[in-house]
Amino acid sequence: MAKRLPEKRKITIGRKRFIFLAVAILSVELSGATISGVVQDFVTTAKLLSASVEIICSEVTFHDTVFTNYKGEWSVSIPSSESVQESTLPDRFSVSQNYPNPFNPSTRIGFSVDRSGEVEILVHNLLGQEIGRRRQILSAGKYEIDWRGMGSSGVYFYTIRSAGKSMTRKMVQLDGGHSGGLSEIRSADSSPKKSLKKSAAVQTTIIVSKFGYVSDSLIVEAQDGEKFIVQLKTIHSVSTLMDGHNDIIEKMLNDSSYRWKTRHTYNHTDIPRMTEGGVDIQLFSIWVDPNQFSSGHFQIANHCVEILKTEIAANAENIQQATTIDQALELNHSGKIAGMILVEGGHAIENSLENLKTLYALGMRCMTITWNNSTDWAVSAKAEAQFHQVGGLTEFGKQVIRTMDSLGIVIDVSHVGDSTVADILATTTNPIIASHSGADALRSHYRNLTNAQILAIANTGGVIGVTFYPPFLSSDSRSVNIQTVINHIQHIVDLVGIDHVGIGSDFDGIEVWPTGLEDTSKFPALTLALLERGFSRTDVEKILGGNMMRVFRQVCGE
Ligand SMILES: [Zn+2]
Repeated sequence: MAKRLPEKRKITIGRKRFIFLAVAILSVELSGATISGVVQDFVTTAKLLSASVEIICSEVTFHDTVFTNYKGEWSVSIPSSESVQESTLPDRFSVSQNYPNPFNPSTRIGFSVDRSGEVEILVHNLLGQEIGRRRQILSAGKYEIDWRGMGSSGVYFYTIRSAGKSMTRKMVQLDGGHSGGLSEIRSADSSPKKSLKKSAAVQTTIIVSKFGYVSDSLIVEAQDGEKFIVQLKTIHSVSTLMDGHNDIIEKMLNDSSYRWKTRHTYNHTDIPRMTEGGVDIQLFSIWVDPNQFSSGHFQIANHCVEILKTEIAANAENIQQATTIDQALELNHSGKIAGMILVEGGHAIENSLENLKTLYALGMRCMTITWNNSTDWAVSAKAEAQFHQVGGLTEFGKQVIRTMDSLGIVIDVSHVGDSTVADILATTTNPIIASHSGADALRSHYRNLTNAQILAIANTGGVIGVTFYPPFLSSDSRSVNIQTVINHIQHIVDLVGIDHVGIGSDFDGIEVWPTGLEDTSKFPALTLALLERGFSRTDVEKILGGNMMRVFRQVCGE
């Protein structure tokens, strides 16, 4: 526990890794100090084994790396130094504390003045624009001032000027705010002077990192015996996961008692499991089974949309509907999952552009042109493969595509026949997606995409959401695991680069699943396995959602 600064007990993590330039400022007599800490998972507070903790004290030229034990604990002794060079710049004040602390949305800036005079503190952003300023005549002593969130989140700098000297430091505002900026300057001389003299603080940079986690670095005035609790966020939890395909609504059409609020041991989707899985944006498929319903497809699609909207309304604290990516990210920012509507199968519009527009008005932002069944205006992949049906889009089909383009509805070609895909590509001016498909080169199947199709989709700027459905991933379904899913991702990356692949789990539309990806709570395992495969954090962010978001932004507007 921190002795002087109790708010340090929950120092954590920003989204980015901060490197502070540690500048020795205060001339101190150091008698050696032992500091220790605990590293935990931010979400679960589980103790993290084998996290690396790097300790840098430039004042005593000490640099060491230790690793946490099974209790997540670490400890290090900083050796003493008899004489520490007094720094020349600045010589009038010191900053005693500077680190981001999202639990306490203010950064405390401590400084000391050794001679009376005017002191000015100003805060500016990365562009050099001034955000706040305080100026005051101060007598010699220790002072502090708080920066309370103001403006957008991001990196800011503060400059302290006194008697012609100035010093600039970086600080990070994790959340935007309107909390007032710089507080009044107040004296900090009330801090117990004895303890200050007894154990001089050592300005120390502590960098904590672990595989699969976002590194955190903090700069502290470490005192002998001080203990730091650092909570790290996983790369998964700070990435936006946009899953391109989920069929829970079809399950709910046939089981009206199923609710999302509580965790279930059947089906794949509910709020607790989506939350655990770090799902940020979910495309919910509205699918009218043509084998179950021979007519009235549009009406049933409307009914399914109603089921979705009702369930979302019943869980409004945890999930809301979005029609744009910006809306979705805003929901995520307030801790909610964003649900978007995808209609799977053009038969739902019953050959009517008016029906298409009605579904758009209800929030549909993606439509799979066909399901396994062909429509009157588009041939499906299954009909091509099994019934040798020929022809792609009819003239009306091309009108559907152009109307989707003009409204801003993403075209999905999973399930769609090869000739139809070709006609779509010749008609649309937008990037297109395959919301839940695999690579035909790894597993030959009419539901998978040939290399030529993958290249063509990538050429539009589009994305392939790799499905988790084992029969599409391998001829030996039972052997399918996370690695098999990643093999398909890897194939697409090898073929067209990192910018055209995403995730389309098809959870609740599949009766078997890969080992390790049993339901919506298991997405974090995929992220870890991608990192282990060698994908960088940036690559993983693109695969999890960045690429899919790019397409939806471009087609549906921001
Ligand atoms: Zn499907």
